[in-house]
Amino acid sequence: MPTPASILKDTFGYDSFRPLQREVIENILAGRDTLAIMPTGGGKSLCYQIPSLLLDGLTLVVSPLIALMKDQVEQMRASGVPAVMLNSSLPAYEYQKNMDLVRSGAVKLLYLAPETLLTPRIFSLLSQIELALLTIDEAHCISEWGHDFRPEYRQITEVRQRYPKATCLALTATATPRVRADIKSSLQFSDSNEFIASFNRPNLFIDVRPKRDAIGQTLDFLKERKEQSGIIYCFSRRQVDELASYLEMKGFSVRPYHAGLDANQRKANQEAFIRDDVQIIVATIAFGMGINKPNVRFVIHFDLPKSIEGYYQEIGRAGRDDLPAHCLLLYNYSDVSKQRYFINQKEGNEKRVATEHLDALVRYAEDEINCRRKPLLTYFGESYEAENCQNCDNCTTEKREQTDITIPAQKFLSCVKRTGERFGAVHVTGVLRGSKRAKILQYGHDKLSTYGIGSELSRPQWKHLARQLEQMGYLAKEGEFQVLHVTPEGMDALRKRTQIMGHIQEDSRQRRKVPEKLEYDQSLFAILRQKRKNLADEAGMPPYIIFSDKTLVEMSAYYPQSLESILKMSGVGQVKLRRYGQDFLREIKSYCAEKGISEKEKTVPRPRNNSGRRYMIVGEMYNAGESIQSLAERYQVQTSTILNHLAKFAAAGNPLKNASELQAQTSLSKEKQEKALSAFDELGTDFLKPVFDRLNGEISYEELKIMRLIAVSR
Ligand code: ADP
Ligand code: ZN
Repeated sequence: MPTPASILKDTFGYDSFRPLQREVIENILAGRDTLAIMPTGGGKSLCYQIPSLLLDGLTLVVSPLIALMKDQVEQMRASGVPAVMLNSSLPAYEYQKNMDLVRSGAVKLLYLAPETLLTPRIFSLLSQIELALLTIDEAHCISEWGHDFRPEYRQITEVRQRYPKATCLALTATATPRVRADIKSSLQFSDSNEFIASFNRPNLFIDVRPKRDAIGQTLDFLKERKEQSGIIYCFSRRQVDELASYLEMKGFSVRPYHAGLDANQRKANQEAFIRDDVQIIVATIAFGMGINKPNVRFVIHFDLPKSIEGYYQEIGRAGRDDLPAHCLLLYNYSDVSKQRYFINQKEGNEKRVATEHLDALVRYAEDEINCRRKPLLTYFGESYEAENCQNCDNCTTEKREQTDITIPAQKFLSCVKRTGERFGAVHVTGVLRGSKRAKILQYGHDKLSTYGIGSELSRPQWKHLARQLEQMGYLAKEGEFQVLHVTPEGMDALRKRTQIMGHIQEDSRQRRKVPEKLEYDQSLFAILRQKRKNLADEAGMPPYIIFSDKTLVEMSAYYPQSLESILKMSGVGQVKLRRYGQDFLREIKSYCAEKGISEKEKTVPRPRNNSGRRYMIVGEMYNAGESIQSLAERYQVQTSTILNHLAKFAAAGNPLKNASELQAQTSLSKEKQEKALSAFDELGTDFLKPVFDRLNGEISYEELKIMRLIAVSR
């Protein structure tokens, strides 16, 4: 008897369920109506795909996105699941063929657009067969309270009433409590059947950097990510075109995407990106809806997004395959002013809402202390409890010591007071720095006692200080012109000369990242990727339908030498094994034979809980005298994984003991070790690449990792 878990492995090739998948599937199999809310990329599709193979009768999936439907059907067929779709994009003969297949009972999964569902043809078809599961994808479209209400969706509720015996599954990635209630009552669900997954996406590295030289920063970022796929979001169409042509000139594989391009061009560019024919898409936010490409390795926000919701959705397009992905937001205050300018052209409620969205985003971007995940998840009604997520800029930046900023804070607050609480930060800063700007002279602010008393700090430093005072509640901003006033707490602090602690901004922030490096054979990966591309082109489908990057990464890490071992790779089920197993096995074997590499055994995945703190435990056991070898055995991982844990442990500020144990891990000569250590002394231990380059690639990254540990533990 197949079970959800056996289908997960045999058909889809995955070892374990994502959060809530199992619960949702079991609930459906028990015949209960279910509302499941999971983030984009959370794996909603499996929640009905697996039941469809276990239930007697047909599973119907109503989905508004025809492009996505086609993709899903292709993916299902590639895994050997009998699936078809019916929608207006199909030629008549194919439509008829699919109708016949459904009628004959050969099909387990049928995808429909909502407008198709509501036609007499479909009603008649459904009356001839047994409907086991009615799935409503993007269920928030049912609700008028949602951000994407579609009237034709409302009518699905009637269809629900026609088939009371079928179980109903409603799926969505966004739903406020009000929308949730609306979905359930429209479909007549009961409360106990609601599943809400966390919106946290732990594999996304969330990074906000001050935008200085946006193009240079983008180039540097891309240079470190050759061969990777990613999206760059810009504010305007013009910016998209400019950046795309600039990057093209610099030799990157890139295409633009925005609503100003003609429909064919737009479609071709999107296709090329999805099929890995180009690596980078530069786009306005028009791009991304319905994109299901799992191997997007980075998302750059070249300009400021409009709201936290939009931002989270956009970065959510990265790393859907669960592998590490980097989300970079380039932030500066002039982008904020630009958007404020546009917002001020609006009126009434629209203006108020847009201002609130922007303010929330500014607070988020300017926070240099708290974990990025906290405000993001709070925004979606979730609380994120972990102290340190290990995967955002603020959690991996060495916390700067707070200093006493009482004096400059007093200067700023009293200058706000003296200028009558009628100006913004720019004006106040000008007065403090003794500016001769016309506006200052015109108001006679050059006569104030606070005029020119603050030349020790630069303008950005004062602004930064003002924002801290705001966050501490001593200052508040109001209205269209962002006029500052001193709060009662601020007055109190001034009067009592309260000590105020904070930061004085430096020009370059000291950052210390935990580098996330995947350990796999890059050359083998490139070969397998090419193989996948060839197979995909022959079959006329996107490469990821064949295997995801994650599958290829695992193959390049474990070097499977038999079909049996290939089956252990993530994403390889029976059908894909039969279809593509030999092809890939051949490539891997000939590569390994040539290089004399043998297979590495893939161990069963360990439960995920606790893994966030694993490095602490490993670090402490190591310092207590346990050897690297025995730690590797204890956790059934490679020694390099233990070394990574130790690196994180050290980066978190814990000194490592027992340098001789580390020395035993390296096979480098004394002389090379010395060279590496002095390179680390000179270039710092944050990044390996500069050291690697300095040594002309003479020492491998694996060895450098060990040397870095020695360097930081001396
Ligand atoms: P969404 O919730 O956005 O609809 P999908 O169902 O498209 O997400 O899943 C996103 C990706 O995650 C797909 O590539 C899918 O194959 C993969 N996936 C889903 N469930 C699992 C799992 N349990 N293990 C590994 N990968 C999974
Ligand atoms: Zn964090």
